Amino acid sequence: MSQNFSVTRELFDDVMVPNYSPGNKIPVKGLGSRVWDQDNREYIDFAGGIAVTSLGHSHPKLVETLQTQGAKIWHLSNVLANEPAIRLAKKLTDSTFAEKVFFSNSGGEANEAALKLARKYASVNFGEDKNEIIAFEQSFHGRTLFTVTVGGQPKYTEGFGPLPQGIKHVKFNDIDSLKNAISDKTCAVIVEPIQGEGGILSPEPGYLKDVKALCKKNNALLIYDEVQTGMGRTGKLYAYMNEGVEPDILTSAKGLGGGFPIGAMLTTNKVSECFHVGTHGSTYGGNPLGAAIAETVLDIVNTEEVLDGVIKKRELFISGINKINDEFKVFKEIRGMGLLIGLQVEDIYKGKAKQFVNAALDLGLMLLIAGPDVVRIAPSLIIPDKDIEEGLLLFKKAIEKVVTA
Ligand SMILES: *Cc1c(COP(=O)(O)O)cnc(C)c1O
Repeated sequence: MSQNFSVTRELFDDVMVPNYSPGNKIPVKGLGSRVWDQDNREYIDFAGGIAVTSLGHSHPKLVETLQTQGAKIWHLSNVLANEPAIRLAKKLTDSTFAEKVFFSNSGGEANEAALKLARKYASVNFGEDKNEIIAFEQSFHGRTLFTVTVGGQPKYTEGFGPLPQGIKHVKFNDIDSLKNAISDKTCAVIVEPIQGEGGILSPEPGYLKDVKALCKKNNALLIYDEVQTGMGRTGKLYAYMNEGVEPDILTSAKGLGGGFPIGAMLTTNKVSECFHVGTHGSTYGGNPLGAAIAETVLDIVNTEEVLDGVIKKRELFISGINKINDEFKVFKEIRGMGLLIGLQVEDIYKGKAKQFVNAALDLGLMLLIAGPDVVRIAPSLIIPDKDIEEGLLLFKKAIEKVVTA
C-alpha cells in the first residue's frame, strides 16, 4: 500500500476532531509493560492505556485468542448466540453477585444500559414517578449524553443541553448529603467504589454499606461503576469484594478486554426481568472476538497468583514512591488500592500534575493524571518487578527535573 503522506503527530492535528491533545510521540509497538515509538525509543508503561491493558501489551495468550477466534468467527450480531459470549457470561456470573449479563463495547455504554435498566425496573415495579437517579460530585461515568449528565463534572455537559432530566448530585463520602437527597422517587444510586477520573478517592470504611442501606430503605437500586476499579485492579476481581457490599447492578469495561473494546453490565435475575426482547441492544456488544478475548483475560486475572501479585506490586510501588517523596516532598497523599494509585501533589504544585507526567514521558516513562492535582499510576496487573524498579528510577529523574526547573 503506497501513501503520499507521512504519519506524524502534526498530521493528527490536521485530521482529527480537536478533542484530544496526545503526547508528542506515537507508539507503534508494545510488549508486556514496554512500548516503542516511531523512532524506536523505549518507554516503561505505568499508564496501561488508562487502566485498560490489564495484562500488558501483546500478552501471548491474548494474541493467541485473537488469532484463533479471529480465524474462526468474529461477528454474528445478536440475532444468533455465540459460544464465547455464553462462556464469558457464565464465568462472570459464577465469579460475582450477578446472575445475568448484558455486553456492550465500552464503559459508557455499560453504564447507559445500567441506568436504563434501573429506570425501567422502577417504572415497571413502582410506576413512572420513581425515576430519579442520584450520582456523586466529581464522579465519571462515560461520555454519552446520559452518562455525562449523570457524571458529577459539569464541564463535560457544558453546551450539550437540553440534558436528560431527573438526575441529582450529592457529596461523595458524606452520608448525610445522600440521606437528604434520596427518597421514594429515587430509582438508583450510581457510585464508583473508588472515584477514578475524579482523583482516585476511596470511600471511608463502611460508607458503601450505609449507601446500600439507604438504597434498600428507599427501594432504589445500587449501581457500582467498576469500569476502572474492576477486573483485578484493586487486588480483588471487583473492588466491591474488598468490603463485600453487593450492588444490584455492576458495570465493567476498561481492563475487561485487556485493550480489546468490550463492556459488561452485570445484574440479578430479579432486576433483569424488566428487560424484554427488544428493550435494549447493541450490534457489536458480546461479539465472539471481544468475548473470547475478555474470557481469556478473566481466566488469567481471576487467579490467586495475579490478584495477590497486584497487592505485592502495590507495595513495591508505594515503598519506591515514599522514598522518592522523602527526598523531593512533591506529594502530600498516596491514594487508591492495588494498582490504581493516585498521588496528590503538594499545594505548591497545584494544577501541575501534568508537568510530572510530561517530564516522565520525555524520559521514557508513561504516566497519567487524574484531574489537575493527581498523578495516576494504573499499569498492567502483571508488570514485572524489574519494570517497576526501572520505571521508578525514571519517575525520580522526572520529579527532580520538575522540582529544579
Ligand atoms: C473510563 C470510565 C468510564 C467510561 O468508559 P468508556 O469505555 O470510555 O466509555 C466510565 N466509568 C468509569 C468509572 C471510568 O473510569
